[in-house]
Amino acid sequence: MIKVENLHKSFGKTHVLKGITTEIKNGEVLAIIGPSGSGKSTFLRCLNLLEKPSDGLVEINGEQITEKNAMKIRQNIGMVFQHFHLFPHKTVLENVTYAPINVKGVEKESAIKLGKELLEKVGLANKADAYPNRLSGGQKQRVAIARALAMEPEAILFDEPTSALDPEMVKEVLEVMKSLAQTGMTMAIVTHEMGFAREVADRVFFLDNGLLVEEGEPEAFFTAPKTERAQEFLEKVL
Ligand code: ADP
Ligand code: MG
Repeated sequence: MIKVENLHKSFGKTHVLKGITTEIKNGEVLAIIGPSGSGKSTFLRCLNLLEKPSDGLVEINGEQITEKNAMKIRQNIGMVFQHFHLFPHKTVLENVTYAPINVKGVEKESAIKLGKELLEKVGLANKADAYPNRLSGGQKQRVAIARALAMEPEAILFDEPTSALDPEMVKEVLEVMKSLAQTGMTMAIVTHEMGFAREVADRVFFLDNGLLVEEGEPEAFFTAPKTERAQEFLEKVL
């Protein structure tokens, strides 16, 4: 579904991504791990042209992303950030229905119907009329996931969705993501939750210093990483 070929990204003189080639298949759950500053967020952001690649190509369903079709592709690929990015002056339900109504042109009534179903799905049906500042971090992130789903995307990219949460709220968000994975959603998740990556991901992708150093099945990667860099990293975090 997503194909990446020889992807490079530089910011000025900083060469951040140094030639990444990979594919994410339909329905696949990819966990992206690696040290801070290794280029994980930049990689994710290049997948929906929040950052413009300096070289190489990104294809979604066989179509190369360009500035022209970036808007359309972004509607089809949701994104969930570490810091939620909810609209503070809109209710939870309005947060979820805003883009479907205003960007996609969905009728208000059906957007509300879907929005309510999605809030139910993430366990927040009773918060539909609340404002974000009344919610816990875990609840905010679940709203952000419902909001991404409301566009009915083909894939969702998550950038450290639990890193800003208090420890007791991490689990509720991971549970929602896990059930989403079980529905067959295509997901790419930058995470430091190694247990989650091991349990839920179909594939692990280890980035270091802008390079895809190792990729493989979680079980193999976590029990017997092939590269020294991955071994060192896992020794520190496990
Ligand atoms: P990670 O998510 O793995 O921690 P990032 O992709 O955020 O890493 O960053 C990788 C490198 O790119 C870092 O050195 C960071 O400072 C740099 N970088 C990221 N975004 C920008 C930007 N917009 N402008 C300049 N440098 C950036
Ligand atoms: Mg990051």
